[in-house]
Amino acid sequence: MQANTLVVNCGSSSIKLALFDHQEQKISSALVERLNTADAFARIEGIDAPLAIEPEARYEQALKVVLSAFEELGLLDSAPSAIGHRVVHGGETFREAVLIDDDVIEGIQACSGLAPLHNPVNLAGIEAMRKLYPRVPQVAVFDTAFHQTLPPKAYMYAVPESYYRDWAVRRYGFHGTSHYFMSRETARRLDRTPATTSLISAHLGNGCSITAIRDGLSVDTSMGLTPLEGLVMGTRSGDVDPGLFDYLDGKGITAAALNDVLNQQSGLLGLSGQTNDMRTLCDLADHGHEPSRLAIDVFCFRLARYIGAMMASLNRIDALVFTGGIGENSSRIREQTCNHLGLLGFELEADLNSAHGGFSDGIISSPESRFPVMVIPTNEELVIASEAKRLAETPTPSERP
Ligand code: AMP
Repeated sequence: MQANTLVVNCGSSSIKLALFDHQEQKISSALVERLNTADAFARIEGIDAPLAIEPEARYEQALKVVLSAFEELGLLDSAPSAIGHRVVHGGETFREAVLIDDDVIEGIQACSGLAPLHNPVNLAGIEAMRKLYPRVPQVAVFDTAFHQTLPPKAYMYAVPESYYRDWAVRRYGFHGTSHYFMSRETARRLDRTPATTSLISAHLGNGCSITAIRDGLSVDTSMGLTPLEGLVMGTRSGDVDPGLFDYLDGKGITAAALNDVLNQQSGLLGLSGQTNDMRTLCDLADHGHEPSRLAIDVFCFRLARYIGAMMASLNRIDALVFTGGIGENSSRIREQTCNHLGLLGFELEADLNSAHGGFSDGIISSPESRFPVMVIPTNEELVIASEAKRLAETPTPSERP
């Protein structure tokens, strides 16, 4: 089986690749880790032996190693028909996925100020793949694009309006590809069309965000200018009082240092003092570790508050949907969260919840629940692959009859 579409997701020290066939079925994947260090290596799904990557290899060299391995395994012909790239920030420029050309690259560069840790590495991957496959159509799929339908009342911060005009300060939202997938998949499972489906989508992984989707469109979301705002996450604090910056400045912690702490040493890790991993945290809490129990309590309570808040943007709820590593696998977190929401009418069925939505199209709520609650595994790679395939097959204006 040979690949038709290649999905590339470049991070600062990793590259994730996925291969899809003509029917949009995933046929293999690979992960490069510890990139830019002396211990870089790659692994192809289902193959035990890691692939050696030269020390300090950059994106192009690492990609070459994996792509040659795919070819040797007969998974990839000389070139795929389309390549899809995950790009974190599209600002207000990119409202949907686009075919990459020089103007698009400039546009992504122009958004780099909003995502300085992400967009430059996404671009490094794009540039490497353009060199390796100069004739293959390449497509950028943005994490922010799905949220470009937020109304101004949801995306404006109550700060001087000139900050928005002069510096593009507003809420953008992230995890858009996952929330988009959830809206389509929820509609499919409920036998509805996306345009008539309204839901609350909770993506709970190491990063966490929640989105209100009204008739298929994102109308509110918990992440903001950066992915720091909103829910408690693995190492990110989510919402804090901005007054913290001045207060801690007085204690000798600069804004830059605090920003690092809020991104890398807070959230579940900061509260528990032990780990950002929810599974480990649940084990610790079960063995009487109080800070871990507190971390779980804060996580679930914040999430429940946000579920309530998202209802302000909807006139109907067809489902509350959980996804991401925690959302898909932790019946305990779903239960503890929904226990806060009895007044709003969310009620889980214990057996269905502990089966992680394994029956009946992912529904885990009881028949008495006012709204269906579901568990649906997300699939961002599939969205990127199908957008890449769709745009690669769309005739350009000069090719149209
Ligand atoms: P992700 O970023 O989507 O891969 O999600 C990672 C998070 O999911 C980590 O905090 C994991 O501990 C958590 N996770 C995965 N499986 C489970 C599980 N069975 N119970 C609780 N948390 C889980």
